[in-house]
Amino acid sequence: MNSYMNQYKEPAPILDKENPFESMMERFEIAVKIIGLDQGLYNYLKAPVKQVITSIPITMDNGSLEVFEGYRVIHNEVLGPSKGGIRFAPDISLDEMKALAAWMTWKCAIVNIPFGGAKGGIKCDPSLLSNGELERLTRRFTSNLLDVFGPDRDIPAPDMNTNEQTMAWIMDTYSMHSKRTETAVVTGKPLLLGGSLGRKEATGRGVTSVIIGAFHKLGINPNNASAVIQGFGNVGSVTALALFEHGVKIVGLSDINGAIYNSNGFNIPELIEHVERHKTLIDYQNAEPITNEELLELQCDVLVPAAKEDQITFKNASKLKCKIIAEGANGPTTAKADPVLQSMGILVIPDILANAGGVTVSYFEWVQDRMGYFWTLDRVNRRLDRMMHAAFVNVYKSAEKYNVSLRIGAYIIAIEKVAQTLKLRGIYA
Ligand code: GLU
Repeated sequence: MNSYMNQYKEPAPILDKENPFESMMERFEIAVKIIGLDQGLYNYLKAPVKQVITSIPITMDNGSLEVFEGYRVIHNEVLGPSKGGIRFAPDISLDEMKALAAWMTWKCAIVNIPFGGAKGGIKCDPSLLSNGELERLTRRFTSNLLDVFGPDRDIPAPDMNTNEQTMAWIMDTYSMHSKRTETAVVTGKPLLLGGSLGRKEATGRGVTSVIIGAFHKLGINPNNASAVIQGFGNVGSVTALALFEHGVKIVGLSDINGAIYNSNGFNIPELIEHVERHKTLIDYQNAEPITNEELLELQCDVLVPAAKEDQITFKNASKLKCKIIAEGANGPTTAKADPVLQSMGILVIPDILANAGGVTVSYFEWVQDRMGYFWTLDRVNRRLDRMMHAAFVNVYKSAEKYNVSLRIGAYIIAIEKVAQTLKLRGIYA
C-alpha cells in the first residue's frame, strides 16, 4: 500500500471550521486513491512548487511607516504559466493561499486552459486604507514579486477585495520595470488597459451555465425553479440576474449586512438598482429579513454560496433543503460536509468547476492581449459557454464512471491531466 494511503485518516466529524489546505487535501487524497496515483506523482502534486512570503513597507497617509505581509504561492506550473487571484483580507494565511493555489491548478485543468495554479494576497483590512495607501501597497507588493510575475511565468487576477484598479496598478508597476507596456502580466484589467469584454461577469455567467446544465440533468424546468444566493458581490449579483433572466425565482439573497427572503421571488434588475443607490440590499422593500443560517436552510432548487469559505459545514449540512448546490465562492463547503450532502442526494457542483468561468475569461483576456486583437462580447460569451458546458459534461461523466460525487469526479479529471502532462514532460535534472 502506498504511504499516502496509510497517512489518510477519516476526519473527526465534530469541528465545523476547517483548515482550507486540509480540506483541499482530503478531497485530493480521495481522488488519488481512486485513480491509484503513483507515490512519486502524489508527492509532486501535493506540495506547492513555490511559496513566497514578502514584507511590504509603505508610508501611510499620516507619515508613519507600516509593514504588511504579502504572499504568493505557486502550486503547479506543469500545464503552463501559473494563474490565480490576489486577495486583500485581514485573516489570510499561508495555508489558505496553498489551498487556493492548488484549487487554481485543478480549476485550470478542468476547463482545459494552459495554466498552472497560484494564489496570493496581502494581510490587511482594505476598508481601513485610503486609495493612496492601497496603491502604494499594491505597487510595492508587485515590485517585491517582479521575479515571480510575468506573462509567461505567473499571471495574477482579481480576487476578494481587489478589482480592476488593483490590476491596473500591478500592470503599470510591472511595465515600468520592463520599460514597455506588458498588458498580459495580469488579467481582470480595465477595458482601456487591455481588459476583456465579459471578464467581470464571467464567473457569474459560468455559475449560471453549470446550474442550467444541472437543471437539465435533473429534469428541472428553470421557469418552475427557485434559487437562494448567498453573497451579492461580483459573482452573486451576476448569477442572480442571469438566473432571473432564465425565469428562475430568486427567493433568498444576502450581502455582508444581512439576508432577505421573499417567497414570490425578487425582481433582480430592480434590486440591483437599489443596491447601486443604497450600497446594501437589506433595506429593500417587500423583503423579510432573515439570518444567514436561515438563508442557507431555505427550501429551493439551487443554493449558490457565493460569499466566502466554510459556509456549509458538518453542523448545518443536514439542515439544507436544496436539490443542487453551485459553489460560486472558493471552498464554501467543508470536506466534512461533503459526505452528509452526498447521503442526502444533493448534487454539489464543486467550486473548481462552478466558478471556473472567471479564470476561463482571464485566459481569453491573456490571449487577446498577446494577439493585440480584441473580441466582441458575443464571441467571449459563446466561447465561455462552450467551455463551461464541455467541462460540466466531462465532470459529470467522470463522476458516473467512478460512482463518486461531482467534486471527486472533478478532482480525478484534474489530477489525471496534470499527472499525465508531468509524465510526458519528465523530470528535469
Ligand atoms: N480569483 C478568481 C478565481 O478564484 C480568478 C482567477 C484568475 O482569473 O486568474 O478563480
